[in-house]
Amino acid sequence: MGSRYHITRKTHRRHDLSLRHRWTIANDVGLGGGKIVCPVVFVELSDALGRNGLGEASPSSQYLESHETVSRFLHRVDPRHLSFDDVPGSMAYLESIAPGDFPAKCAVNLALLDGASKGMGLPLHTFLGLDFPKPGPMTSFSIGIDRPEVMAAKAHEADAFPILKVKLGGNEDRKCFQAIRAAAPGKIIRVDANAAWTTREQALENIAWLAADGRVEFVEQPMPPETSAIDTEWLKQRSPLPVFADESYHSAMDAHRVAQGFHGVNVKLVKTGGATAAKAALEAARAQGLETMIGCMIESSVLISAAAHLAILADHLDLDGNLLVDNDPYQGVGCHKGRLEFNPGAASPTGIQIEPRQGATPLFGSNSDGTGPAER
Ligand code: MG
Repeated sequence: MGSRYHITRKTHRRHDLSLRHRWTIANDVGLGGGKIVCPVVFVELSDALGRNGLGEASPSSQYLESHETVSRFLHRVDPRHLSFDDVPGSMAYLESIAPGDFPAKCAVNLALLDGASKGMGLPLHTFLGLDFPKPGPMTSFSIGIDRPEVMAAKAHEADAFPILKVKLGGNEDRKCFQAIRAAAPGKIIRVDANAAWTTREQALENIAWLAADGRVEFVEQPMPPETSAIDTEWLKQRSPLPVFADESYHSAMDAHRVAQGFHGVNVKLVKTGGATAAKAALEAARAQGLETMIGCMIESSVLISAAAHLAILADHLDLDGNLLVDNDPYQGVGCHKGRLEFNPGAASPTGIQIEPRQGATPLFGSNSDGTGPAER
């Protein structure tokens, strides 16, 4: 075994992403819900060779996660057990601290992969043994739940995007869908019910109604993840549109079970615990004959760009979380009319391929003594 340098400096910092529009999904409806700010946590790791890597956690209240739970876990991580030279060993160490805490593990995993691939002079996808699709892959643009006229206005605003992902599961689903369809005639629409339809009959009725539109591509998570296997299989057999698992699909270990009740899966880096686990979850799903999609939370360009490196493993992309915020401190993968491309002329064409956004206040000081603005 060659030399193995452990991480000598680990810092993390909270950043509140501010949303361009109030963001509401089915789980928030009726709670006076939706949010305008989404706290994320950035992690920076460095070692004695001067290598450094950046990662991000976007915790989800849906899974009882917050920036506090992320921070609490990160404080338990002893950097001496982490190394850019041994990502699998480092992840095994993180797993030994506690089960769960996937967003925090994701942030550390991304920082490790970023540092390791930059150290080798490779973009992340090459480091992971993957190509990046040419031409760049297409992402959908998401529209959260709102009044029908507001959703229609958002559809107009998303004019440049050929594919829309529409959140349903509110009180006026059909009016909302019709308003969007009127605003975007002919456009491909993906629907995400976020587990809102509680019985198989209700789910089938809604999916059949959507299928009659003729331009709905698939429906994500129609029923709650607690739904029985009998009911999810019943729906899969009858559904006129493919049904995708999101809240029901957490890791590669779920692939066999999920294949019985769904046609595809939505894999997110923060849900699986990083790019390593997301890659495994995508490969396991494909091995079960499932269609694959890479999705996201409200995230900065760090998580979105990291996810984009896995694009070749996905049939569909929903990587627009960074486009929904107006204070992203980083820039990475670009998005032009829905198509994702890394800028070949970027200052750092290695690792996750991200750099501080011009004009943004740096989150981490460039000083190497560990002092500065970040939480230690
Ligand atoms: Mg979803």
